[in-house]
Amino acid sequence: MKKLLMLLVLLLGVLVGEVAWAGQASLVSDAEKRWLSQVWGRVVHQYSRFTRTAVPRLAIWNRPTEVNFFYQSQTHHVLVTTAAMRVFQGQDGEVAFFVGHELGHALVQHEPHQSERLLDFLRSIYLWPKAKGAPLSKREQETLPDMWGLCLMSAAGYNATDAAAGFGRMGMVKGTAYEWAARGQVVARWLDAHPSDQRRISLLSRAASAGLVQHCQGRR
Ligand SMILES: [Zn+2]
Repeated sequence: MKKLLMLLVLLLGVLVGEVAWAGQASLVSDAEKRWLSQVWGRVVHQYSRFTRTAVPRLAIWNRPTEVNFFYQSQTHHVLVTTAAMRVFQGQDGEVAFFVGHELGHALVQHEPHQSERLLDFLRSIYLWPKAKGAPLSKREQETLPDMWGLCLMSAAGYNATDAAAGFGRMGMVKGTAYEWAARGQVVARWLDAHPSDQRRISLLSRAASAGLVQHCQGRR
């Protein structure tokens, strides 16, 4: 239902010609938009190096108590909720990872061969995934977007360690000044689809130190 609503809102945005900020931006200041566009611009510049597919549009979704980033494949949008925008305000590298992860979902869809190369790289440094062509579990399907996220944000000049810092901040919104300011219980909705356990974080840091970024840059 929520996804359907989101789709409707986005389509309305398209109809009134406000694709980039698709009608949810009433609570977002110009300064916030400028900040997010600047991080986004650096990351999508890297995205464009890997695919001829159009760059997804960026849309703000007005959800003051739900921290989430989302790739909507039907409309080719990356959505950032207003809550995510506020929680991560000023944390450029962390946001670069999360939008990079969402762009990674688009790359997995549109650039299967390059994505398979990233999986091969993971096989070379880690005992996972075991066999080529073996179906990936839902959780494993999030690993490739993670690697793309790491690749894109690092290539854009952000520090790879910000990815883990982002997971940390995502997991700690409860009970913070942010939650108080939002006047309601804040939910890190992104974590529902992306459980951030130690395995995931250590795979990211292991991939970074094994040269994932150079690998994805060098073998386009
Ligand atoms: Zn994901």
